[in-house]
Amino acid sequence: MIYNVAALLSGELGASRAYSIEDETVIHEDGDFHGISGIFKLTRTDRGILLRGEATGATVKECARCLETAVVVLTTAIEDEYFPVNGDLGPGSSLLRQEVVEEEEIPEFWIDESNDLDSSEAIRQGFVSETPMVPLCRKDCAGICPECGTYRNTKPCECDTRVIDPRLAGLLNLNI
Ligand SMILES: [Zn+2]
Ligand SMILES: [Zn+2]
Repeated sequence: MIYNVAALLSGELGASRAYSIEDETVIHEDGDFHGISGIFKLTRTDRGILLRGEATGATVKECARCLETAVVVLTTAIEDEYFPVNGDLGPGSSLLRQEVVEEEEIPEFWIDESNDLDSSEAIRQGFVSETPMVPLCRKDCAGICPECGTYRNTKPCECDTRVIDPRLAGLLNLNI
């Protein structure tokens, strides 16, 4: 997920390169992502390199309903600007021209001393923002019965666990 942008950095403003990844992995303490593929465009800006594109990957979670393994497939759009630590953008760089860099302008993504741009953290953050709060093993997971504990995806049970919509509950008390 590393792309050397030395040629782009020494090229003209607006110059771009296509960049694709396939079957990559990001290992992180907050969760791993696997089978990552993506197509990106790297464009030389007056401050660095803009990474734009889309990535698809998968992460393994616990299903919120049945607690079995849930493989969650994610797609995220990426748009992040990377800045060279070398400062070899020359005197034309708008970032280097600024004497005082506002705190919100301090970039999060850097191109390292070897002019390598590592897209993995930008992609990871994109996936994290797309990960559902309630992961499911499948859309219609029937979960575990709260009454008898049966794993209902393979064996339905006879318990009545219908939840009454609170907006309709009042109707039940009307005795009509
Ligand atoms: Zn499930
Ligand atoms: Zn049951």
